[in-house]
Amino acid sequence: MSRDCQKISIVCPAYQEEEVLPLFHRELVTVLRQVEKDYDTEILYVDDGSHDRTLSVIRELGDRDKRVRFLSFSRNFGHQAALTAGLEHARGDAVIMMDSDLQHPPALIPELLGKWKEGFDVVLTVRQDDPHLGVFKRWSSKWFYRLMGWLSDTEIRMSAADYRLMSRRALDGLLELRETHRFLRGLVSWLGFPTAEIAFQPVSRKGGVSKYTLRRMANFAFDGLMSFSKLPLRLSLLLGLGAVGFSLLFAFFALVRWLFTPGALAFGSTFILISVYLMSGCILCSLGIVGEYVGRIYEQVKGRPHYVVKETSWDERIRFEDRHLQIGQGPHRKDSEHEHFAA
Ligand code: UDP
Ligand code: MG
Repeated sequence: MSRDCQKISIVCPAYQEEEVLPLFHRELVTVLRQVEKDYDTEILYVDDGSHDRTLSVIRELGDRDKRVRFLSFSRNFGHQAALTAGLEHARGDAVIMMDSDLQHPPALIPELLGKWKEGFDVVLTVRQDDPHLGVFKRWSSKWFYRLMGWLSDTEIRMSAADYRLMSRRALDGLLELRETHRFLRGLVSWLGFPTAEIAFQPVSRKGGVSKYTLRRMANFAFDGLMSFSKLPLRLSLLLGLGAVGFSLLFAFFALVRWLFTPGALAFGSTFILISVYLMSGCILCSLGIVGEYVGRIYEQVKGRPHYVVKETSWDERIRFEDRHLQIGQGPHRKDSEHEHFAA
């Protein structure tokens, strides 16, 4: 299928990036010129409630460049929220999301589009090991993804950056996931569309400072873990079963010892020890069972769809709003339909 003259949206969140934004825009536009014969392009900046001149810089860029659209938050809502807002407002047939600090090289864009043309719905970029990156960041990231691999059913690609291309159908799937704590890396993997990877060598920021402080990184990792694993909730059930098992084993040995050498065991302390283990095991188990129910409620509240459609035999995928229109529950319901329901 030819994808000629389709529209590409580039979504770029920016928080306190006044210094680097003009440089980023210049480099991005230079690369977009190479693909403009094949695609219409739009650049969607999301100002995440910056206190510096970021928004004015974006406005100036918009005055000079008709491709630029932007939206600005009332306050800082965070990187994942800014990305989500950009994705919701993007109009492209494919969307590329990238940081606006030049750590995600715009030069990769033609390659991302190439993979899309080959038929991939998601094109991830994967950071090669960066010798300039601090030892702590490298080490913590490696262990975080290892832990996620053990604890979660959703496989999340290690070192994948928030620099990726998504086709319209993958993006529509992503936008139907309405959960509050948004760990996009996990959500994109959860969707499961055909995915390609491109490796890149990370570079240092061209200006400004990183907004991911240790606290933010820890929050981000915690969000990922809590959204994609139920193991923390099951922990007390496992501990409880362990404690009950230990108490039963201990009781068995005490009984055997008492049968063969009566009087060798002090009855009182043995009884107390076994009861303590048994009771705490039972309490932990019931906490675990409550946890299991909480986990199920959590899954339900997240409201993830039960499936995501990749392809249908009919012409066009029925979009979310259209579906509402069809079943007559949408906000734009026609009056005649009201009458029909009233009858
Ligand atoms: N960012 C954002 N809101 C925030 C923090 C960051 O929109 O609260 C943007 C930031 O402007 C940049 C991208 O997210 O374009 C990645 O942030 P940063 O470069 O600080 O993270 P790092 O690359 O150091 O992990
Ligand atoms: Mg950065």
